[in-house]
Amino acid sequence: MENLNHIDWIAKASANKDPVLDDLQQCRERLWINPKVTSFESVKAKLPLSFADIEDASARLDRFAAYFKAVFPETAERNGIIESPLIRVDNGAKAVAGLLDTETPANLLVKCDSHLPISGSIKARGGIYEVLQYAEKLAAENGLLHEGIDYACFDTAPFKALFAKHGIVVGSTGNLGLSIGIMSAKLGFNVTVHMSADAREWKKAMLRSKGVNVVEHQSDYSVAVAQGREEALATPGCHFVDDEDSTTLFLGYSVAALRLKKQLEEQNISVDAQHPLIVYLPCGVGGGPGGVAFGLKHVFGDAVHCFFAEPTHSPCMLLGMHSGLHNGISVQDIGLDNLTCADGLAVGRPSAFVGAVMDPLLDGIYTASDDTLHALVKLMTDAEQLSIEPSAAAGLPGFAWLQKAGSETLAQIGLAESLTNATHLAWATGGNMVPAEERAKYYALGEKALSEAFRR
Ligand SMILES: *Cc1c(COP(=O)(O)O)cnc(C)c1O
Repeated sequence: MENLNHIDWIAKASANKDPVLDDLQQCRERLWINPKVTSFESVKAKLPLSFADIEDASARLDRFAAYFKAVFPETAERNGIIESPLIRVDNGAKAVAGLLDTETPANLLVKCDSHLPISGSIKARGGIYEVLQYAEKLAAENGLLHEGIDYACFDTAPFKALFAKHGIVVGSTGNLGLSIGIMSAKLGFNVTVHMSADAREWKKAMLRSKGVNVVEHQSDYSVAVAQGREEALATPGCHFVDDEDSTTLFLGYSVAALRLKKQLEEQNISVDAQHPLIVYLPCGVGGGPGGVAFGLKHVFGDAVHCFFAEPTHSPCMLLGMHSGLHNGISVQDIGLDNLTCADGLAVGRPSAFVGAVMDPLLDGIYTASDDTLHALVKLMTDAEQLSIEPSAAAGLPGFAWLQKAGSETLAQIGLAESLTNATHLAWATGGNMVPAEERAKYYALGEKALSEAFRR
């Protein structure tokens, strides 16, 4: 199958009545188990990036902590480290289980990247990290750094003068643009964000208010990225943040695993073969969830199980991994519109490298409809007073998929004996910068979904 092009693969899968393809084309919610997942120890040495790369990224973020403390006061509380709370959601667990007709799990946690400082989404990990790496490299090349220097210096005139001579360009559906834009503007770069048609007005307005150059496109994410790439390549002294193919972004996300390990220890939550950690990560192009999952596998090995969650209208990673074609196939190729309420997840074609890295590491992927996402936003607001955006709710149904899966499916991923002892963790990827009016709209759509789509 691997050597087919997307047209031949679709023809063959259709002729074989492939149930996965059928569900994707019908926009039916489903769980897909990755047949290639294998033991971490057996693949570790073959992975393109290593634990040392994750530690290097972590050390870089530590070096910049003094800078963050100085210029973003909201990071002072954690000494300049950009990190989010890990919370238990007992009421939320009951509400979600009720909605999805399953038992309440014993342990449901939410990782609140919705409340990360600076840009209020998981993009504050990878996006900010890539800008810092570029800034540090420029500073070093220009003789501005020496051993032991306090990185608060990045807020001084010589640094700003240097960065003003350089540009940063990115293509985004919104949240990556916010992270890259806010960070780059603060350091003094000329920054341009190419926004896809689905990007929210308030995100564009916020960026413009910070001096970011916003270019609006009438097309989707892939086109916004392609045009950003083209502009950056044509501009000397300009760095393009390539969300479709950046190992730097990926490593920035991966540091989350080291931080999560500490938080779990602080909360006395053990993770081992008998007490697995099952993590559900909303997935767009794949860098964010892929980077986090990659880090988690290095930290917890086979005791952690990672699942991605995608909208039924944009299941690009599921399609790429299932077909084996990765970025050689798009959701539009199978007739989907790539239209969803889930900001950040409206991506039709997956990353060029993340799917291949995930092949042996990921347990599976499930999809969620916009109605489900809106309903979950309302339930979490009521049960936990937690403000998340629809995309960030995609991790919540994960435990229900596993609880409803047959014992054969669970045996396939080594969870047949241990599921009842598991800690389920839904990664809430965005939300706290959403303006109150927008939040009210999501809530109202949740009420509507509950009274219509979920009425029984
Ligand atoms: C970007 C984003 C994701 C997914 O990250 P990818 O790297 O695109 O897969 C998930 N949730 C939110 C809110 C995002 O903005």
